[in-house]
Amino acid sequence: LEQIAYVNGAFVPLSEAKVSVLDRGFLFADGIYEVAAVLDGKLIDNASHLARLQRSVGEISLALPESLDRIQEIQKELVKRNSLVNGMVYLEVTRGADSGRDFAFPKADVKPTLIMFTSVKDIVNAPSAKTGIGVITVPDIRWARRDIKSVALLAQVLAKQAAAEANAGEAWMIEDGKVTEGGSSSCFILTQDDVIVTRQNGSEILPGCTRKAVVKLAEERQLRVEERAFSVEEALAAKEAFITSATVFVQAVVSIDGKKVGNGKPGPMTDRLREIYVDFARATAV
Ligand code: PLP
Repeated sequence: LEQIAYVNGAFVPLSEAKVSVLDRGFLFADGIYEVAAVLDGKLIDNASHLARLQRSVGEISLALPESLDRIQEIQKELVKRNSLVNGMVYLEVTRGADSGRDFAFPKADVKPTLIMFTSVKDIVNAPSAKTGIGVITVPDIRWARRDIKSVALLAQVLAKQAAAEANAGEAWMIEDGKVTEGGSSSCFILTQDDVIVTRQNGSEILPGCTRKAVVKLAEERQLRVEERAFSVEEALAAKEAFITSATVFVQAVVSIDGKKVGNGKPGPMTDRLREIYVDFARATAV
């Protein structure tokens, strides 16, 4: 059965889901995206993703073509039409297709493009959750507004391709000697004195929805959390390291550039936070 996608008001088979070559998402990466996980047919932490969507479009003066409530309805409808049990819903909004290729914003009558599609992934039972992943480090060559979830992901494409070629599961991006974030994830370490450290939000990183939830859940359990930058050396001297994202939840990192973190296995704090997050996800799914 062919997958169903959403394009500007219509639910269509994926092979027929198309936008114009003049779409500004295609020409200029003039667009914003979001990814929400689906667990047992329900959206995970979706209010947080929609709030970030609203913030991102606001930062680039792009008006959403639908209300957030309507967007969530469409997400749910798409999950239903695809009989999706476990996986994710991708959504993208761009500044639409103008009559040519002008850098400046189009005139008001050009409608933004809104598309969505789904994909299947068993996040909870992913084998990498048990084994952990290795990561490599690469220079962070991105633009200065990484807090905006823009579709301009070329730097991350190159970073994650380098990781794939090195048989690593993620690339950690480095700037001024410190880890900014993963190619598509937030980075954490657990220090030798049991402090969970993750970089503070700011224009240097995307404010991860999963990161935000994990920090809150950890603090509610009286675990010590520090939001500050850390270096690869500090990560290699840590007890544990992990990443978070909508499509991995909490994922252990067991090596960096081929060097072991801790004993080279997923640690107890990572496993615990993963369980806590999965419980939170199930309890708050919509
Ligand atoms: N950082 C970057 C650069 C990302 O692309 C992502 C997700 O794609 C994340 C962090 C994690 O964010 P979230 O937990 O909201 O998926």
